[in-house]
Amino acid sequence: MRQIEQFIAGGAAGSAGGSVSERFGDVFNPSTGQIQARVGFSTVADLDRAVTKAQAAQPAWAATNPQRRARVMFNFKTLLEANMQDLAELLASEHGKVVADAKGDIQRGLEVIEFSCGVPHALKGEYTTGAGPGIDVYSMRQALGVVAGITPFNFPAMIPMWMFGPAIACGNAFILKPSERDPSVPVRLAELMLEAGLPEGILQVLHGDKEMVDAILDHPAIAAVSFVGSSDIAHYVYRRGVDAGKRVQAMGGAKNHGIVMPDADLDQVVDDICGAAFGSAGERCMALPVVVPVGDKTADALREKLIPAIAALRVGVSTDSDAHYGPVVNAAHKQRVENWIQTGVDEGAELVVDGRGFKLQGHEEGFFIGPSLFDRVTTDMESYKEEIFGPVLQIVRAPDFETALRLPSEHQYGNGVAIFTRNGHAAREFAARVNVGMVGINVPIPVPVAYHSFGGWKRSGFGDHNQYGMEGVRFWTKMKTITQRWPDGGAGDSAFIIPTMG
Ligand code: NAD
Repeated sequence: MRQIEQFIAGGAAGSAGGSVSERFGDVFNPSTGQIQARVGFSTVADLDRAVTKAQAAQPAWAATNPQRRARVMFNFKTLLEANMQDLAELLASEHGKVVADAKGDIQRGLEVIEFSCGVPHALKGEYTTGAGPGIDVYSMRQALGVVAGITPFNFPAMIPMWMFGPAIACGNAFILKPSERDPSVPVRLAELMLEAGLPEGILQVLHGDKEMVDAILDHPAIAAVSFVGSSDIAHYVYRRGVDAGKRVQAMGGAKNHGIVMPDADLDQVVDDICGAAFGSAGERCMALPVVVPVGDKTADALREKLIPAIAALRVGVSTDSDAHYGPVVNAAHKQRVENWIQTGVDEGAELVVDGRGFKLQGHEEGFFIGPSLFDRVTTDMESYKEEIFGPVLQIVRAPDFETALRLPSEHQYGNGVAIFTRNGHAAREFAARVNVGMVGINVPIPVPVAYHSFGGWKRSGFGDHNQYGMEGVRFWTKMKTITQRWPDGGAGDSAFIIPTMG
């Protein structure tokens, strides 16, 4: 069986990446339900080796002028484009998302790499001349040193690139701990970075589960950790990392709402919501699993249009180019999603379309779930409060705008939200007042472009600084400020009082 190795500097290729690991994880093909590979979990000794290599390589990388560092990112972008099809097929075979969607996963990461090519501009500091007599002040952003990223299964290309693109371009050495469920693409990305001209030791990949995460969090030589995953673990990672004196940003789960105002174009909304709720089998932190029509008339009309649109969705294997979405990631997750559907029924929500028990002919063992639709979901239901992370759409009816605004604002998660309307005033009011980090106005999945920044509020994000864009540059660097005086040779002032510029 194929074995997926770690990627560390000096690890002999094809020999477990130099690891003596005795723990392994199964990597499935979710479309067939079969184990297709196993991943060797790295050991604490592997981490120590990787950190030592990173510490040795990082100062020279940080001292490489930023334009040369950017050039490596540019070469990497070109390699990503050349390898897009292979990467997308590999990604889809381990994750389950359809190949076209896997290309989107890579493309959104590639855009962060494009942003990282502009790092010389992003790292320009601030300068004040004449802050006092003969005094100039300037500030610079310096790399942190050795840093790490821990990523979830659902975007195995994009999220690692969100992190290592800006981190490496800024001059850090980066250790990536990807999800153990689909680890092949992250390793391929590291290989391509090396091919692009990155020095050995600047990007290394270690595999594993909680054991490796804890080892990273406790390692004294790792200066910062970026985490993306579910909220309880994000919170845990945040606390443990901060306790160990690290800079930590930890993005968590989500339950994004789509508010549908009575004046919205319902045909367009149905298209948008079907893609956002069921695309990638709902396994996106920016999916739209809750729809909030304002007024019963809007709710009834929307429901009527959603039912046939859902019936027309095609669920297929990840290589089926006509499929709207593929299987979920593994059997345990399929069971978890189906349990949530049962909870919704038990809590009294109306199950309008039931996706449980779906079997794809010829792929009966695949982890498929048909699309499900609930109506009359209420805010006291557990199935509303928690993230389901599957192809399940819940309608929560709101009598008016103020109630609709309150729902996402008061929910424990605050990642994304969308409003569908033709009324500019309502949209503007909503965007200003809603207690959520990313807002779409007639945009169902408002993932910000690479030169803005990604980050949710409340239990969707712990710590400061968003992912990528200038926020990424700020997270992966620390600021140093220099106050300089070049006196002309005259007598100096007394040094016994606090210096002022006044
Ligand atoms: P997860 O929390 O299970 O795993 C994330 C990472 O944490 C993985 O690398 C995993 O190996 C590690 N991990 C697992 N158990 C751990 C433990 N007990 N202690 C320490 N580390 C542990 O998440 P997932 O299932 O891979 O991904 C789906 C989740 O990620 C969803 O909740 C989704 O909303 C969230 N997500 C959030 C964002 C965002 O930007 N806010 C983006 C994508 C996904």
